[in-house]
Amino acid sequence: MPFDDYVWSAGLVTDLVNTSPQVWHGAEHLPDVGTLRTFLDEHGLVARAVEPSDLPPVQALRERLRPLIEESDPARRVAAASALTGAVGGLTLADGWAATVPDDASPAEVLGVVAGVGILAVHLHLGVDRFRPCSSDTCSGVFIDTSRPGRRRYCMPGHCGNRANVAAHRARRRAAGRT
Ligand SMILES: [Zn+2]
Repeated sequence: MPFDDYVWSAGLVTDLVNTSPQVWHGAEHLPDVGTLRTFLDEHGLVARAVEPSDLPPVQALRERLRPLIEESDPARRVAAASALTGAVGGLTLADGWAATVPDDASPAEVLGVVAGVGILAVHLHLGVDRFRPCSSDTCSGVFIDTSRPGRRRYCMPGHCGNRANVAAHRARRRAAGRT
């Protein structure tokens, strides 16, 4: 997995963290092994056969990743992301830096390496201010902004972004009605 494809790897971190029930009104978006398989497929990741016992470590990784986005000290974030990157694999330099994981790595191990690489690469290429909370009043998600201008506001732009717009629209209408 190439180190420089941070739009993919950091996007995966954002997507994984926001499957947590603490983000979207208590709804667990990785409730079973089927949704975990779909999540891995959708992100183009192949792990060895995925078993039900693979789910709790992935959910635990997800809860470890959120504080890395919320972390206010860039040095601590880099240290934690580096630890993830080296947990089961390693970085190699051939045509460019790439992270490697063994073929028998578990989904949580693969995701951990990808997440560590994504966080480090965003630091390196985009800077320390790309780790942010969602701007929606109705969502407690967090995200890594890999957009070119760096002005993304929502963790799931097509989802909580729209909800925020609807909520703002209603609030304006209520305010207008009172005056
Ligand atoms: Zn959001």
